[in-house]
Amino acid sequence: MEKILVANRGEIALRIIKTIKKLGKKAVAVYSEADINSLHVKNADEAYCIGPASSASSYLRGDIIIETALKAGVDGIHPGYGFLSENAAFASQVAKAGIIFIGPTAESIDLMGNKIAARETVRKQGVPLVPGNKNTLTSIDQARIIAAEIGFPILIKAAAGGGGKGMRKVMFMEELESQMERAQSEALASFGDDAVFVEKYVSSPRHIEFQIMADHHGNVVHLFERECSIQRRHQKLIEEAPSVVLSEKLREEMGNAAVQVAKSCQYRGAGTVEFIVDENLQFYFLEMNTRLQVEHPVTELITGLDLVALQIAVAEGEKLPFTQEELSIKGHAVELRICAEDPFNQFLPCTGVLKTYRPPVMENVRLDDAFIAGMEVSIFYDPLIGKLIAFGDNRNAAIRNLLEAIKRFDITGIETTLPFGKFVCEHPKFISGEFDTHFIEKYFTPEQINETYAEDALLASKIALNLFLQDKEKVKFMGT
Ligand code: ADP
Ligand code: ADP
Ligand code: MG
Repeated sequence: MEKILVANRGEIALRIIKTIKKLGKKAVAVYSEADINSLHVKNADEAYCIGPASSASSYLRGDIIIETALKAGVDGIHPGYGFLSENAAFASQVAKAGIIFIGPTAESIDLMGNKIAARETVRKQGVPLVPGNKNTLTSIDQARIIAAEIGFPILIKAAAGGGGKGMRKVMFMEELESQMERAQSEALASFGDDAVFVEKYVSSPRHIEFQIMADHHGNVVHLFERECSIQRRHQKLIEEAPSVVLSEKLREEMGNAAVQVAKSCQYRGAGTVEFIVDENLQFYFLEMNTRLQVEHPVTELITGLDLVALQIAVAEGEKLPFTQEELSIKGHAVELRICAEDPFNQFLPCTGVLKTYRPPVMENVRLDDAFIAGMEVSIFYDPLIGKLIAFGDNRNAAIRNLLEAIKRFDITGIETTLPFGKFVCEHPKFISGEFDTHFIEKYFTPEQINETYAEDALLASKIALNLFLQDKEKVKFMGT
């Protein structure tokens, strides 16, 4: 491929464009009217407007994007994450237009995009699943029978689910009907499909996922795990690699299971197999995401690989340049998602202009973002501003680097998750590795952020006072 169109926006579009250019290829950006001044547009070799601000009229318009790709004469389309990345129809239309879709086949996307179908496929491979039912729930009576079999609490999940949507925890039989209705209507509104199923609710789970990479010649490897247990609304906020709870043996077992899952759908390209792990370190398959993941940089930092470059290479038909045995973990990486959300107010998304935007420049710290001061975080898109990723020889060093980077990052004009990141990096339970997906509910209150900030402010004022007094001494001294 010589010229690749990036069908996305924001930090991920910019990150993909960087690799395309590094490989000596030409990058084509597409943008909505709201994104005309975006960095992904400025950094591409060519850029085309594809419609008004709303995603439905621009970044989700597969037809316009393919038309643009043909006009620009590209050989490949990289979909990034979100938007059309897991849209099987788009993948097949791209291929029909004679353009390489940098991702798996439409069939793999289709199969793994439906959680019920995915569960049935991996069940046949002997991969452990969270106890649950096999088909779409058709009636409340059927749901009652299944719930009684599995035992409460249960989770009702959308078959087409993603981004933590369409998921409802049910504690008692009495609330089953109302929660099932809610899950169905949320699923219909978010995914245009109201199919739901039941899973046992694992009470103290950790979210641990494996990065997969597969070529077109039947070679599949995993690039180790990422732990993503620090979540709000079933969505990740902090991710790290490796996980503190995996022994070499468990890593190998889960890694093999993840490779099995990929093989079960003839997977190719980069993908992620998600598991939950319970208190007894039993692991269960959750789902497979058939795309590049938001948190892929932590894997890049501990393996030294460029996942986007690998995606492009395998899409071009190249063989994987390594075997499983040749891969190893070096050091530790931790990532904070910097979202335009207010941690003092239930992580509600906020919008506005970034009055100040001064990122830290530090060794062992990587920033994937797409903003400069004066730009606006708008209501039209995901509230992700960027990702701050720290590396260290060990976990403590990585956490320390992330904490230092957070402290040096100056953003004003809009609330962000930076203060939350600081809270986590300083929390004894995070530092000791004893946490699960309920970390936020268990330990986090906005008052505590204020407390740590108050301590910092007090310290800063003491230092300032000290410096002032020292200066006064000097002045006095010089005056005598
Ligand atoms: P990851 O594990 O990569 O973080 P997420 O589930 O958080 O996966 O989703 C990644 C991105 O994709 C987010 O920007 C999210 O809003 C978006 N997303 C996830 N699922 C869907 C979906 N079904 N439809 C549209 N966007 C989605
Ligand atoms: P999505 O497609 O929205 O990402 P997932 O199935 O990957 O949905 O689940 C998202 C998150 O929800 C998980 O990381 C975990 O925190 C929680 N979750 C999902 N299934 C269960 C379960 N059976 N028990 C407990 N928590 C779960
Ligand atoms: Mg998931």
